Amino acid sequence: NPTITNYHPLDNAVWKQFESVPYMALARTLSEIENISARLKTIEILSNFFRSVIVLSPLDLLPSIYLCLNKLAPAYEGLELGIAETNLMKAIAQSTGRTIAQIKTDAKAAGDLGIVAEQSRSNQKMIFQPSRLTIKGVFDKLKEIAKMTGHASQTKKVEKIQSMFVACRNCEARFLIRSLAGKLRVGLAEQSVLQALALACAKTPPGQSYPPEQLNMAKTMSADSFKGEYETQALILKTTYCECPNYDLIVPVILREGIRKLPDHCKLTPGIPLKPMLAHPTKGVHEVLQRFEGLKFTCEWKYDGERAQIHIDQDGSISIYSRNQENNTSKYPDVINRLDACKGDKVRSCILDCEAVAWDKENRHILPFQILSTRKRKDANEDEIKVQVCVFMFDLLYINGEPLVKRPFKERRELLRENFKEVDGQWLFATFLDTTVMEEVQDFLEESVKGKCEGLMVKTLEEDATYEIAKRSRNWLKLKKDYLEGVGDTLDVVVLGGYLGRGKRTGTYGGFLLGCYDRENEEYQSICKIGTGFSDEALQAHTTFFENHILSHPKSYYRYDASHEPDHWFDAVQVWEIKCADLSLSPVHRAALGIVDPEKGISLRFPRFVRIREDKGVEDATSAKQVADMYVNQDQIKDQQKHKIAEE
Ligand code: ATP
Repeated sequence: NPTITNYHPLDNAVWKQFESVPYMALARTLSEIENISARLKTIEILSNFFRSVIVLSPLDLLPSIYLCLNKLAPAYEGLELGIAETNLMKAIAQSTGRTIAQIKTDAKAAGDLGIVAEQSRSNQKMIFQPSRLTIKGVFDKLKEIAKMTGHASQTKKVEKIQSMFVACRNCEARFLIRSLAGKLRVGLAEQSVLQALALACAKTPPGQSYPPEQLNMAKTMSADSFKGEYETQALILKTTYCECPNYDLIVPVILREGIRKLPDHCKLTPGIPLKPMLAHPTKGVHEVLQRFEGLKFTCEWKYDGERAQIHIDQDGSISIYSRNQENNTSKYPDVINRLDACKGDKVRSCILDCEAVAWDKENRHILPFQILSTRKRKDANEDEIKVQVCVFMFDLLYINGEPLVKRPFKERRELLRENFKEVDGQWLFATFLDTTVMEEVQDFLEESVKGKCEGLMVKTLEEDATYEIAKRSRNWLKLKKDYLEGVGDTLDVVVLGGYLGRGKRTGTYGGFLLGCYDRENEEYQSICKIGTGFSDEALQAHTTFFENHILSHPKSYYRYDASHEPDHWFDAVQVWEIKCADLSLSPVHRAALGIVDPEKGISLRFPRFVRIREDKGVEDATSAKQVADMYVNQDQIKDQQKHKIAEE
């Protein structure tokens, strides 16, 4: 029984070389991780599992990674699990002889169908034990299930699920059912999986013959002795993943040549969405000028629409991706058909960074984001499109075989304007002003607001002006009109629970518990209760939505004070953008606990609902670190600190 640190990838594996990795090996690993909250430990446990896979059955590394992430393919392929609970209950009932009603009652009590599946399975005696599940087998079947469409497919899906379910032993049933339901619930974020993979490769480099001495050495050496190599490989892996978020391409290279060789093979490629560069909030022109002192910069209007990364790949096919690398191509057939009109003759392949904005054709002006959000999300038919969009182009990241991300923005902007042209009401360049004069920036900000924009994006032009993939960079500052009244920025928070409404609000939720996401500890931390900013219809819509996401117990990775316990806990599935008057230290809320104050968290005062952020996943919510930064950056806090220093 090895400890985490002296794990031996051969001796401690539960299968033999060249065998398919049993699904049990993964289920046990996930089960172990589920019971541990320390992030470094979970990384180490997962890395041990990956090491065994690398040494014994390398071809199973790819499906193992996908199953840990509960994904079947890169996000932009849109292949998703998330089978309706009723179908899963049907499959469990039919395979165990229990009734759906019994399973429903148990699931309500346990708050987790996975656990119910495991218990239902373990009470069942089998005369013939079907052959054991393998990782490859489960992964292939999950893919088949996800690809089945149409009404008749439901029965076939249930049959396929049943065929796997009857072969489950012990905790396998828990994770299989959770996978099918769309969430593993072990709190394993993608960054941890990437780190575990890097640690595994640092300790047990892939593609070797693994003499026993080497494996024995890796067994006895502590994680610390691999630290340098691990950190380097983790950085390379994470950077590569940002440019090329596709494990189908990355994993074979790792197995063949190791992580260090990834940059030679997996590069920025049109057709594969990259993680976009993001901006830091600021609270006024003054702060912008301070930050960019001595640097050349430009101010661009910040359009309030949806980010659109437009790719033309080597074969000429066009795709459009969202801020989160989802494939939005079928949402914008109109934009795709018009691309020829704005593209110069010399453009063969490219990646454009743009904002798609709802557009009033008659009056020729921008419409608010809320109008854009009424457009059909997928498979739009061009003739039926009612909401017109205008695409505002603001960056060019790749052109004709050449990545431009390392070039300064000034050059990228020139190339953008040389290779593309404006088409009235359809394609426009972001309006900009290159200035360092405070009054001019202030006037330009006001103009942008009159032009129905959110404010300005202020960007460095020459020095420190590369395109920083996946980064919330300090070389892009956002200056929103709201900042002028409130705390600087809106926050994007996760809805954790609901309080039942009283009086006029009986029958719907009257308030909600919200939280930020702490990336370090991979947990959701309560930040405030909210009850304002909602219309009655909105409350009804939120209530209907969250009815399908109620849990009977809070997740082990929710941090909150008992005094805020909501009537219903929700699965972390939706992000809301909210405004607030200011941020204050709180003895009860847990946001950013330990960052600014060892015992107090941070809470929001007077929060108001702005909108649902469909384009953000829950792990993209405002982070604990960002909350702490926003708190510290408030004028009164800065003043207090100055005072303190002066007094000392
Ligand atoms: P929010 O959209 O609430 O500001 P966010 O986290 O999605 O938050 P930010 O980094 O804050 O993104 O702001 C950048 C976003 O603003 C981009 O993702 C893009 O969609 C939009 N945007 C609008 N105009 C521009 C522009 N001229 N340059 C860059 N981004 C722009």
